[in-house]
Amino acid sequence: MDRITPEHRSWNMSRIRSGNTKPERLVRSLLHRMGYRFRLHRKDLPGRPDIVLPGRRAVVLVHGCYWHRHSGCRFAYTPKSNLAFWQDKFNENVNRDQRQYARLRELGWSVITVWECETKELTTLAERLLREMPNLAPSPTAC
Ligand SMILES: [Zn+2]
Repeated sequence: MDRITPEHRSWNMSRIRSGNTKPERLVRSLLHRMGYRFRLHRKDLPGRPDIVLPGRRAVVLVHGCYWHRHSGCRFAYTPKSNLAFWQDKFNENVNRDQRQYARLRELGWSVITVWECETKELTTLAERLLREMPNLAPSPTAC
């Protein structure tokens, strides 16, 4: 029984789409309006982080609440069928996120995780980003 299930197919699709999702685009345009300079998907950093602010040595990760299991969030519901399959995928994602976070921190980067549900309240999100963004003076070599 190795036929691809509809769940598996939609899982594959979600992996293909990830990297240019609507929440990520919203966060990018918000940061842009706030005057932050950033780069996308730097391949030389662990996990190719979505948004990198070299001048502040900060990384912004935009996470879908469902796939990345936003704790306590109503969008991170658990499916009723194929529970074992989903649980595996969720665990993989959460473990990958934790490893990426730890490796970035080890390299001296600040990491701000933005959840998909937060992109529905951009004013509140902007306030949080302002609060949590490290306040480094831009280095002369920053782009
Ligand atoms: Zn959420």
